[in-house]
Order: sequence, then C-alpha cells, then structure tokens
Amino acid sequence: MTVQTADFLVIGGGIAGLSVAYELSTRGTVIVLESENSPGYHSTGRSAAVMSENYGPALWSRLVTASRSFLEAPPPGFTDVSLVSPRGALFLALEHEQDKLRAQGEELIRRGASIDITTPADALRYCPAIQADKFALALYEPDCLDIDTDALMTGYGKGLRARGGQLQTNARVLELARRGGVWKASTRQGEFEAAVVVNAAGGWVQEVAQLAGLPARNVVPFRRTAVTFDPPAGADIRTWPMTFDVAETFYFKPEAGRIMVSPVDMEPSAPCDAQADELEVAIAIDRIERFTTMRVPTISHKWGGLRTFAPDHEPVIGPDQDQPTFIWVAGQGGNGVMGGAAAARLAASLAAGESIPADIAALGITAANVSPGRSCVSEPDAVRPTVGRLEDIA
Ligand SMILES: Cc1cc2nc3c(=O)[nH]c(=O)nc-3n(C[C@H](O)[C@H](O)[C@H](O)COP(=O)(O)OP(=O)(O)OC[C@H]3O[C@@H](n4cnc5c(N)ncnc54)[C@H](O)[C@@H]3O)c2cc1C
Repeated sequence: MTVQTADFLVIGGGIAGLSVAYELSTRGTVIVLESENSPGYHSTGRSAAVMSENYGPALWSRLVTASRSFLEAPPPGFTDVSLVSPRGALFLALEHEQDKLRAQGEELIRRGASIDITTPADALRYCPAIQADKFALALYEPDCLDIDTDALMTGYGKGLRARGGQLQTNARVLELARRGGVWKASTRQGEFEAAVVVNAAGGWVQEVAQLAGLPARNVVPFRRTAVTFDPPAGADIRTWPMTFDVAETFYFKPEAGRIMVSPVDMEPSAPCDAQADELEVAIAIDRIERFTTMRVPTISHKWGGLRTFAPDHEPVIGPDQDQPTFIWVAGQGGNGVMGGAAAARLAASLAAGESIPADIAALGITAANVSPGRSCVSEPDAVRPTVGRLEDIA
C-alpha cells in the first residue's frame, strides 16, 4: 500500500477541515482526508447558510465578526462569484425578553454593527408575515448575509490545490497512531503520514480522538431538523430577513424560492447521516402557524444535520493538552460556516505555534479561552456551564 507524507493531515472535509487546510497550506504541505465521496456532505451541506454577528455564544460571534471581511472580499482568485448576498436578520422578543434583546443590540453596536431597534408593528416592513401582536420588541440587523456555501467550499478546495495541497475523498480514517514522532493514518485509499494531525471531523471528533488514543473530551453532536414549504401565493419573499425569536424556539428564512424553517431542536445524537425528526417537523409547522400568518399545507423538503458543541458552546480550537501535535478544530455548533474563515486562521496559527492573528486577538480571543484543555471540555464529568451570551465573556 502507498504511503503519502505531508506536514499536516487534516481529518474531515467539511468547512472546518477545508478552511484550515487552506490556511495551513501557506505553512507546509497538507492532505485532507474525507470519508465521503464529496466534501461538505454532512453538516456543512445542510446549514441555513446565514451569517449573523448576533448569533451564537460570545466567542463564536466574535469569530463571525472576524470572518466578515474574508466573506465580503475574499483573496484574489478565490472565487468568481460573490460568497455573500444581503439577507438581513430580524430578532423578535416577547414582553419578558426585551432587556435581553436590548443588551444584544448594545453589544452589536459596540462591535460596530448597525442595528435598528423598533416595534414589532414597524418590523412588518421587514417581514410582513410575522404576527406583530405576539411580540414586544424587534431588532433588525441589516448586515446579516446569506452565504453561498458551495462557492465558499469550492474556493477553499481550489485554493488548497493551487497551493499544492490535496483533498482525498472516500478516505475514512480507520486507524490513527503516532510512532517515532509521526502520525500514521490508515484509510482504504492508502496510508498517510504527518508530524501534525488536525481533527476537523465535525460530529465524529470524539471518534477520531479515540482512534488517536486520547482520553474522551466533551465535544458532542446534536441533531437539528429543517423543513421547506411554499410561501404564501403571490408573496415576494426575496427580501424577507432571517427571522428568529429571542428564546430561539424557531427561525425561518427564504431559501431558493421557498421558506425554510427550523424548530431549532437540539437532540443529542450519535455521529451519523442525520435525518429530520418527524415530531420536530410537526413542531416547526406549529411555530410557523402560531407566530406568523403563513400556513403550511404541504412540506417540500425536510432534512436533519448535526451541530457539534462543547458544554459552553464555544470553539474548541488548538493543541490537545495531552498531545500537542493533535490539533482540534471542533465545536462549531451553529456558527461553523459563518465563523469558519476566522476559526481557520486561528486554528492554523495555533497549529503552527504562532501567535494569534492580531485582529482575532483584539476581539478578546485567547489560546486559553478556545483551548480543548479548558475544564468543561477536558473533564467529561465537569459541571455543565451556563452557555455564555455576548455580554458574558470578557
Ligand atoms: C439545520 C442546520 C442549520 C445550520 N445553519 C447554519 C448557519 O446558518 N450558519 C452557520 O454558520 N452554520 C450553520 N449550521 C452549522 C454548520 O452547518 C456547522 O457548524 C458546520 O457545517 C460544521 O462544519 P464541520 O466541518 O465541523 O462539520 P462537517 O461538515 O460535518 O464535516 C466533518 C467531516 O468530517 C468527515 N469525517 C468524519 N469522520 C471522519 C474520519 N474518520 N475520516 C475522515 N473524515 C471523517 C465527515 O464525513 C464530514 O464530512 C447549521 C447546521 C444545521 C444542521
């Protein structure tokens, strides 16, 4: 069997794996090993493909801010098409959630985002389908963007190849061992060797760590369901924003001429080819019919996808504390596509032993606060922390 050698082996060909491989390919030779026959088959190909700086926990939302310039103005030659297009996001608060929404608005302003805090009745000009009388306050974020995930993945793949890197599909890593200072990964496509391994296996990161002989870490997948249905007859939905409720019990957005809705379910799952859950499909329809004027007589399409989280929902990026040549790029949760560009730059700098890029450090991100060695990740029995919001983490 052939043995191929590189400086870095990246396990997983989703957004995390391809983006970090692209960034590492300026530092050395890189081979990405992906189980499936095409990259992005799992979570990356199933997302809502939206970028909002008001979505997710504190550190992830800062990585989203740090990803914006890459998505809006990628490097020359990265893509022939725009990676992003305007979408807008509308956040709706119930009576008792108004202070929380105002605090989110203040944090967004601190980070330079423009927002419009308004009444739900006024928010009808952004999305005429909401039942305004059910809500007490609205926040509109005009700079929320739709991401062209295919173009983003194609750009990373093309850029990786142009820099001499390689993506090997149908190459599930079946064995992974470190001997004589070198990692050896066995796949059906042959053997691969490198001094450094990057674990970007999404829902399978625990499995890959186990293959490497490392102790269990708390980074586990949860299933999320999504559904599309036809919009109301005659409605021009193209400019409707991604609409969320503050308690995160649903979101919906226009998607290729239809409406996509998720009941934002979060069910622990084994790593797998996730499917839609029928009960969650029914809940999604109920939320649409309860909080909007839309009706859902038939469903066009439904799917499931995995979102992988550390207990604090923050990034798990950097060297494993027991094995510094094993680099984690994990715990992307619901921010992996939108925050992937900055997460990849951060991961590549930590993998190469460099200091964190200045723009990312300036946002308060340190090697310690994203480290796989922090206690909630490295001690499986540690008390589950409260999930941080924007204002919670310095
Ligand atoms: C319904 C839904 C909506 C979402 N909406 C958004 C959104 O609007 N914006 C956003 O930013 N994020 C969103 N997300 C989250 C986003 O999809 C994830 O954060 C992101 O795709 C994770 O990327 P990944 O590369 O870590 O995982 P994946 O895309 O799952 O990639 C991991 C890869 O590793 C491979 N792999 C696993 N084990 C091995 C092995 N042993 N050997 C080789 N390869 C292996 C797998 O085959 C897989 O391709 C959403 C997710 C869902 C489910």
